[in-house]
Amino acid sequence: MISVEDALGLIATNISLTETEEVSVIEALQSVLAADLVTPINMPPFRQSAMDGYALRLNGKAEYNLIEEAKAGDSKSIKLEPGDAVRIFTGALVPDDADTVVIQEQVIKKVDKIEVQKLPEPAANIRPMGEQVKKGETVLQKGTVLNEAAIGFIAGLGITSIKVFKKPTVAILATGNELQEPGTDLKPGSIYESNAIMLTAALRRVGIDQVKIYKAKDDYTETKETIKTALDKVDVLLISGGISVGDYDFVKDALTENGVEEIFYKVNQKPGKPLFFGKKANKIVFALPGNPASSLTCFYVYVLTALKKMMGHEQFQLEKGKAKVTSALNNPTGKTLFLKAIIKEGKATVLTGQASSMLNSYAVSNALVYIPEEIEVVNEGDEVEYLNLIF
Ligand code: AMP
Ligand code: MG
Repeated sequence: MISVEDALGLIATNISLTETEEVSVIEALQSVLAADLVTPINMPPFRQSAMDGYALRLNGKAEYNLIEEAKAGDSKSIKLEPGDAVRIFTGALVPDDADTVVIQEQVIKKVDKIEVQKLPEPAANIRPMGEQVKKGETVLQKGTVLNEAAIGFIAGLGITSIKVFKKPTVAILATGNELQEPGTDLKPGSIYESNAIMLTAALRRVGIDQVKIYKAKDDYTETKETIKTALDKVDVLLISGGISVGDYDFVKDALTENGVEEIFYKVNQKPGKPLFFGKKANKIVFALPGNPASSLTCFYVYVLTALKKMMGHEQFQLEKGKAKVTSALNNPTGKTLFLKAIIKEGKATVLTGQASSMLNSYAVSNALVYIPEEIEVVNEGDEVEYLNLIF
């Protein structure tokens, strides 16, 4: 059995980056840029009015001749003499001759003249060409995680496809005779299968949304063959259940039989002790304990870390924070604990219902309080570390 730190270290050393690919901008959401992004245009691309008002060629006086109109999208060039004004709208091309834009609220309009109540400073209410970014400049660095704002920003530069690290292909195998599909009448002794759908949902958090789900009974041959089929098709295989030491837990042997090399098996932690991580060439396998809360904790702590590292994230572990516990905790187990908790205003409330089978408390938690294996007692008000589940 190894420690949590050693397990994370082994994941880090055994994971390599995926290849890069060119994808359309919308498909790049949640991916990581694989090359610095250089803008092909200035932004804004021209001198742009920031307000609805009047573009002026200043002459020091309050009255201006209204000679033209420029609305967003107009392209004609307008000449102004000193003392001329052009009616202008937000986003419109500001004529080269105009010195400034006065907002319409500060203007009294007459038939073909305007009276400016307060003359603006030169260049007021004008977005200079290239104010945001200049043509040829690096505007996003390799390693940037592309969020919605980045997608909008890149599209605004006229770019249609970009180079990102590939998202790995993932399959999930749920093992267990007792598993029944939600939506059917529950037979005695059965439970509804929930890990596969939970892990599918968790994968979407990192933008992996094409996940094939396999099922296998607690049968050695079926487990072995299903692993083979699934592993042939994907980069990452997540297996749920069957990795413990029961007589009907066949996953470990089936993995060995399939040529999956064990990197580690069993971590000194609660929940999630019987966690397996292995490799076959460039493919990786996590066998997660079947208990739903263990499965999800192992996903957050290990699987997510591995996937993010593969996809080029520089920050690949869940963000950590510190908070003071609202009640004392005991850790007589000598294991590292991951406790479902709610963090609010610097305080950590560890929830009841920590059993590895329970998701009801997980469903309302926003963090996992992390108690290292060597800590036996935490007093009320002591500071603890936590992993932030809001990401
Ligand atoms: P195992 O790790 O296979 O020994 O399973 C441990 C516990 O988790 C048992 O109570 C199982 O019934 C339950 N379990 C296993 N797989 C799933 C699943 N896919 N969905 C929900 N519960 C599961
Ligand atoms: Mg089982």
